[in-house]
Amino acid sequence: MYENLLYQNTDSLLSDDIKNDRLPGSILFSGPDASGKLTAALETARILSCKDKVPGKWQCTCSSCLSHKALLSSNVVLLGPRDCSLEISAAKKTFLNAFLSGQHEDAARYLFLRSIRKLTMRFNPVLWQDSDKLSKISAYMQDIDELLEEIDFPRELPDFDDLSKICDKLEKEALEFEEELMYDSISIAQIRNLSQWAHISLSEGKKVVIIEKAERMLEGVRNALLKILEEPPENTVFILTTSKRNSVMPTILSRVRTYNFTARTQAQSADIIDRVYHEKFDGSIEQYLQQFLSVSPDLIKQYSTQFYEEIINGHIPDLAQLISNCNKFDPRTILRIFFVNLYDIQKSALKTARGTYASSKCTKAICDAWNNITVYNQNVLSALENLVKEIALINRQNENALLEAYVKL
Ligand SMILES: [Zn+2]
Repeated sequence: MYENLLYQNTDSLLSDDIKNDRLPGSILFSGPDASGKLTAALETARILSCKDKVPGKWQCTCSSCLSHKALLSSNVVLLGPRDCSLEISAAKKTFLNAFLSGQHEDAARYLFLRSIRKLTMRFNPVLWQDSDKLSKISAYMQDIDELLEEIDFPRELPDFDDLSKICDKLEKEALEFEEELMYDSISIAQIRNLSQWAHISLSEGKKVVIIEKAERMLEGVRNALLKILEEPPENTVFILTTSKRNSVMPTILSRVRTYNFTARTQAQSADIIDRVYHEKFDGSIEQYLQQFLSVSPDLIKQYSTQFYEEIINGHIPDLAQLISNCNKFDPRTILRIFFVNLYDIQKSALKTARGTYASSKCTKAICDAWNNITVYNQNVLSALENLVKEIALINRQNENALLEAYVKL
């Protein structure tokens, strides 16, 4: 079991709990970004529904495993935001290279198909049935499904030019889909739909609900989820994932068993990148994927630094220009790099007593802006407008402490 979860000790714990029928109905995968939590969650769903006598082997070809491996099983519901587009771009490159070289072609084809379905799975009609966004979702899904059909198994692939055109189109559609519909946080209606789905009995296998970024939920949504976790429906397993266990509500933590994932070493990351994407790369998996951003991480950091410098010097940054330079902060990784850099550079104020006070205020303002966007669905422009006002005010009220202590990183 868990042959494709590399360099994580949790695999043996999970396997043992499954073999001994000790896996609880609600579990939490906690660990840094890109440590394999989603892979493990999808694998758990597959293993729990496997029909083989010795269940769960990666090579299993039972009908259930095949649909799980293609991410087409109706037993799994996946929700929560994620920057799928980076993985899609990376998988596209791997797939096209494999097609040209004739090596690992099937595996790379699976990789690309799965990368797209990790996005589309989140738009399961089970979750969105009564949403006003349903017609938009259906339109995207139809376009993507039509394109996928042209490259899915068992169909023979077209020649390279046609194949790369289809892949480019898929990548573009997926990015737009993600930009437009991925990032609103989970709604109460979705949790209700989920509950209904979980309570309907199923003829075969176990149902699995995967909720990514479990720390990013509004209070009402958390409470609705908590109610389900208190009395979990039979035959359904809830898998929550988070990279910030401290931010998950204690009431939720008390209902789940936590499985810890650890950061991989440089050498382990390099091996994974080599095995999955067939590339030699010196760096973390996150850094590898960030190469596919439309704005380079260095440039994002420059924009962030410039933003801060302008504010502490008493100017108002041109936000419309900034947003456009940063590709509207899509995918959200761009926003995260921007905010982390901002957080790092304002820490230069910690050198003085007045600066320390100003920096603590500033940190709070940055966190609030991030939460307002990612949890409360505020648009980026208004969140940044508020942040500019906040930082300017903090600097003024503390006699330019931020400006005086500022050193460029
Ligand atoms: Zn199987």
